[in-house]
Parts: sequence; structure tokens; C-alpha cells
Amino acid sequence: MTTTTTQVRGPNVFANRTDEVLAQLKDTGQVKVLQTIEGPMDATVKLRGYGEVACFCSNNYLGLANHPQVKRAAIEGIEKYGAGTASVRFICGTFEPHERLERTIAKFLGVEAAYSFVSCWTAAEALFPTLCEPGDIIISDELNHACIIDSMRLAVGIKKGVHRTVFKHSDMGAAREALDKARNNPEVTGAMWVVTDGVFSMEGDIAKLPELRKLCDKFNALLVVDDSHGTGVMGPTGRGTHEHHGMPGDAIDFYAGTLGKALGGGAGGYLAGARRGIDMIVQRGRPTLFSNALPITIACSANMAIEILMREPQRVAKLRENVAYARKGIAAVGFEVLESPTAICPIIVGDTAKAISMSKRLLEMGVFVIGFGYPVVPEGTARLRVQISAAHEKVHLDQLVDCLRKLKAETR
Ligand SMILES: *Cc1c(COP(=O)(O)O)cnc(C)c1O
Repeated sequence: MTTTTTQVRGPNVFANRTDEVLAQLKDTGQVKVLQTIEGPMDATVKLRGYGEVACFCSNNYLGLANHPQVKRAAIEGIEKYGAGTASVRFICGTFEPHERLERTIAKFLGVEAAYSFVSCWTAAEALFPTLCEPGDIIISDELNHACIIDSMRLAVGIKKGVHRTVFKHSDMGAAREALDKARNNPEVTGAMWVVTDGVFSMEGDIAKLPELRKLCDKFNALLVVDDSHGTGVMGPTGRGTHEHHGMPGDAIDFYAGTLGKALGGGAGGYLAGARRGIDMIVQRGRPTLFSNALPITIACSANMAIEILMREPQRVAKLRENVAYARKGIAAVGFEVLESPTAICPIIVGDTAKAISMSKRLLEMGVFVIGFGYPVVPEGTARLRVQISAAHEKVHLDQLVDCLRKLKAETR
């Protein structure tokens, strides 16, 4: 996509090629417009230039981002501890709320230990580069999140002799083949890691965790799940995709997760699993050794969000009802929505510019849905990604469906 014709080396080489890419995006209707929100994230949001619109593009799955107790926890945290540590954790940067949050995460997931980061992206950056050693292989679903892909690239880049391979999305035959090949590869002398998203962010489908667990047991491999879109959403009590499949928390060797979606929505991420792995992350992870702690406000608000989720599983049930209602409505209008139990409802429209213009039209009608195109998804599979929340009431879901109906009529 980024074809540049001005390749002559000179003082303006960067400026010229960059301007050309940006102009090309503009000419082809692919520019992302960053909307500015003037109030809290909830079922509706106040958008600059559009007023109050129904929000269907946030990961605020449980409606906790603007929960009074979640906000109160953050305020109390900053009052008691100030803005932050001004230090990395191992020097003098661990506050009580970090310990509390990490205990809560471990308890919530049913694993030995957890460690928090400023984002799941950062957590992923610590994951494979720290836990893998030369002779290891990482086996990854092709649709895994960008942070997992980059974590593997980094591991391979900084530790010579770490291998990686990718299997076709959710294809258990391909996963088995990759494991079999790895087992017979003389260069693979260490641990084998299988990594998958729990809920895939662009398709909204879920990983076949029971099958992957079986394969990992058979081949003596470790299973890592990034359940950023599944935590708080999947399973009767929102524990995540493993719970949806009826698996206990410790059936997964390591979790990566975010606090920036269902669990309060502020920011932050974590790794969780066996204590030895978390200890290793604390001792050797470059993001843990060289980067500041999760802000105290988030450690407090996210902890409260998880506690609310644990005591109010009815939020998860309401989300599930809303999802079923919305999917039915979207399908009734005549849009093809990928079937799945998750809160992500992608409507495939094909062309990037088309997805962007449809999302613009929806916004004019008072419904905030984002169109995703290249390079976030492959060329030709651009989509509107509708995301449902427990914060939504029937009136919001009906508004979404009504506007989609109008859009369908207009684009016929
Ligand atoms: C959103 C997401 C992330 C990024 O989380 P941040 O905490 O915002 O960095 C990572 N992995 C997956 C699977 C995600 O969906």
C-alpha cells in the first residue's frame, strides 16, 4: 500500500515519502478520524461536533468505566498515594494497591500469581522475550493480536535460536502439524509454546481452547492465552474464554490480559499464571525492569472493577442478553454478521473506504460504530465492528438496528 515514487535520498526524503502516504490515504478515503469525547464512556457518549451518540465501538463491555465505585476507588487511591511512584517497581515503585490488584487478578483467574503492566501491549512485550530461551519454539494462531505477534518477533530478534511458526486460524489440524514438526525439528531443544487470543478481536470468534489444551498435553507444550476481549465477557461469571469452555483457570499456563477493556477501561494489563513464570518476569522482564509501574489510580479502579464483576455476575448475563438481541436485530436488517457468543459483532463490507463512509453515516445518525480496514484487517475484508455492552439498554440496541436499517436502504 505504501508505494512511494520519490526515493531520491536528500534532506526531504522523510517529509516527501510521509506526505505522499498521507495524501494517498486521503485520496482513497482511508483516513482515520479521531473523535474527541467530551464526557464519560458509557452507553452513550458526548462527541465533539456530534453531541450525544449511542456508543457501539468501546470495549467497555460491562459498563464499569463510569461506575461510581470504580471512579471513587481511583480518587481514593490518588488521595492516599499521590500520582505515582516516580520509579520502576523493583527500585521503589511498588505500592500496596499493586499487590492488592495482582492478588485479585490471580484469584479471579484461579492461578498462582499475576503481575501488572501499564498495558497488555507492554505485558506481551515482557512475555516471550523473557520466558523463551534459545531452542524454544512459539506456535501462534495467524489471527493473534498484534502485541502477540510483536512479542514473538522481539523474542526471536533478541534471543538467537528462539523459533516461531504460525498456524492457520483455529485450524486444529494445522496446530497439530506445527507441533509435530516442531517436535521433529532438531533445532527445537527447549520448550514449545502455543499462543492464541481467547476472543479474536476482528472476527469476534473464540479459540478452541479444549482442543489446544489436549494438543499441548500430548506434545508437552505450554498454552498461553491473551484473553483481552474475553475477560469479563465469556463464561457464566466472566472469567473468560476458558470458563466458556468449562475449563478451570489453571488449565491455561499463562494469561495475558488487559485492564483497559471490561475491567474498568482505564488502561493497564497483566500476565498471570504459575508463580515461577511471574517471578521470572519480575526478575528479568525488560518492561518490568526499565519501565514505570501501572498508575496508582488504575491499580485501584481496576481492582474495584474486578471486585464488582466477582460480586455481580448478572452484569455478564445482561451483556449476553444484549449480544443475542443485537445480533438478531442486525441479521434481521439483512446485514451479514459473523455468528459467535462474544460481544464483537463484525459486519463485513469489503472495501476500506466503504467501511469508513458507512461508519461516518452512522455517526451522523447518532450511532458510533467504527469501520476497520487495511492495515488492521486484510485488504478486501473491511468491516463495521459493532461492540455490545452491558451498559446498553433496549432503547440503544433498537437505535442501532434502526440506523443500520436506514443505512442498508441507502446503500442498496
Ligand atoms: C486490546 C488488546 C490488547 C491491547 O491491550 P492494551 O492494554 O490496550 O495494550 C492486547 N491483546 C488483545 C488480544 C487485545 O484485544
